[in-house]
Amino acid sequence: MSLPFVDLKTQYARIQDQVRANMDAVLAHGQYIMGPEVAECERQLAAYAGTKHCLTCGSGTDALLMALMALGIGPGHGVLTTPFTFIATVEAIALVGATPVFVDIDPRTFNMDPRKLREVLEGLGETHPGVEPKAVMPVDLFGLPAEYEEIGKIAGEFGLEVINDAAQGFGADYKCKKAVAWAKVACTSFFPAKPLGCYGDGGAVFTDDDELAAAMASVRVHGMGEDRYHNVRLGLNARFDTLQAAVILAKLPIYEEEIEARRAVAYRYSEALADVAVVPEVPPHCTSVWAQYTIQVPGRDGVRAKLGEQGVPSAVYYPLPCHLQPVFAHLGYTAGSMPVCEDLAAKVLSLPVHPYLTQNDQGKVIQALLHALS
Ligand SMILES: *Cc1c(COP(=O)(O)O)cnc(C)c1O
Repeated sequence: MSLPFVDLKTQYARIQDQVRANMDAVLAHGQYIMGPEVAECERQLAAYAGTKHCLTCGSGTDALLMALMALGIGPGHGVLTTPFTFIATVEAIALVGATPVFVDIDPRTFNMDPRKLREVLEGLGETHPGVEPKAVMPVDLFGLPAEYEEIGKIAGEFGLEVINDAAQGFGADYKCKKAVAWAKVACTSFFPAKPLGCYGDGGAVFTDDDELAAAMASVRVHGMGEDRYHNVRLGLNARFDTLQAAVILAKLPIYEEEIEARRAVAYRYSEALADVAVVPEVPPHCTSVWAQYTIQVPGRDGVRAKLGEQGVPSAVYYPLPCHLQPVFAHLGYTAGSMPVCEDLAAKVLSLPVHPYLTQNDQGKVIQALLHALS
């Protein structure tokens, strides 16, 4: 029997009384749009993140769009980001009409390399004439925060805002604060398979900036002004369902414990696998929430097939980097443009990591991998 890559059923068995009670309360009051659970969820999420504001929304993609639109980023503007991410990061930049500008990654962390960020910014006049850089959008890939201090310093020098795509990294620490509290605005996703997931699509933005929070609240509801029939900007329908807020309210109290459980799995894997594969590194000033546990192995596709034969699921995040995706061909990047990212795309392999993975199943994954590599 194959073990699950992500196990939402065991988690549900643990919290079902609370989920059902919370959902029943919503069904009883009937405020499905922006009901009291949404406000309570935002209050608790902001307290957890250590930010002044949290606004929930319809998805991680909506969160990115709300941040970009509220900051007035659009045609003629450049947003620097990583090519090694889920397509939504780059898609959001392109959807507002701005130009995605890629910065290659650090092979040890899979995240944007700050030294390369500076290089790309210094060369931007030549590579992207007429594009005015406005923001940097680092991604906390696999749950590990990007280098916010260095990126923030460089962004400050060049007059750019930092928008954190923390869709995978909500809850991770960077230098004694939550990583989502480091950027001007941070965006996360509550897609079910993310570390903190609801039972459908969902997301949130975090900021300390009152004006930006107000602008994002407006974007969330069709660019509303004084009320919803007074509209001052183009916006979206990006609200978070009350029923989904009820789910997050049931999951947030156990989230720290779940992160610890993920961490324990990751440490066990690293101890067992460090001699046979490149295991993920967590810099001493960060914690990871282990959205994925990703190793690097030669002959990755063969290893993956052998794992499958032994009933161990695995995944490749991401087989084709964003700068090589057909949809972004017009940006002019080619094979060889982002060598570190391209090299890693051929080697990465993500193993099952979730809070309810038993010791026994962890052992199965390790044994299957050792066998596959032998
Ligand atoms: C999942 C994800 C998103 C998009 O989130 P959705 O809730 O699916 O819209 C954006 N960026 C990254 C890095 C992600 O992993």
